[in-house]
Amino acid sequence: MTRLLLIGPPGSGKGTQAARLSARLGIPAISTGDIFRDNVRGGTELGVLAKSFMDRGEYVPDSVTNDLVRDRLAAADADSGFLLDGYPRTAEQVRTLDEFLATRGHSLDAVVQLTADEDETVSRLLRRAAEQGRTDDTEDVIRHRLEVYARETAPLIDVYASRGVVVSIDGLGSMDEVTDRIVDALGGLGIDGKAA
Ligand code: ADP
Repeated sequence: MTRLLLIGPPGSGKGTQAARLSARLGIPAISTGDIFRDNVRGGTELGVLAKSFMDRGEYVPDSVTNDLVRDRLAAADADSGFLLDGYPRTAEQVRTLDEFLATRGHSLDAVVQLTADEDETVSRLLRRAAEQGRTDDTEDVIRHRLEVYARETAPLIDVYASRGVVVSIDGLGSMDEVTDRIVDALGGLGIDGKAA
């Protein structure tokens, strides 16, 4: 049973690595950004609400995000472990996740921090904007997302570090190189996807 978080700035490659790790470790990747985008595409009430925040580079309110994640983690496939990508992003979300896990007698096995400097993340995001046209990938919104990340989310890494569960991974390099680094680091903690 493996319970992991992936944390890092926008453009650090979390989504890409989450999909790869999910396949390697045999646990579902749960991406709040993907869930919100699916809802935007589907035109749901949640999607309309989420879009109004996402398009400005703001976080969706904690109450909404926490309810969504609680429901998702309660689904049967998350019983055998999960990899959270893009959640928690605020201190309040950390509290909610802690409580959810504690009431079930669970805790996180590792928090994988992906690092990448700002020039690299901005250029990756601008490239993706040109290729895929995500509505929150304009230059002004990207800069704002990075500011919000620095203010709200980066401090959470210290919270998890004080619990001794953070592994810090250099996010620069090819996708394969970064995956190998994460898999090696997790293997060093005895997390290899083979354990039941
Ligand atoms: P990125 O990591 O590149 O910012 P994501 O796909 O993870 O992209 O998230 C896209 C947007 O979805 C965020 O900018 C935010 O508006 C919203 N979002 C995703 N996860 C959360 C969260 N945990 N709390 C609040 N808002 C979130």
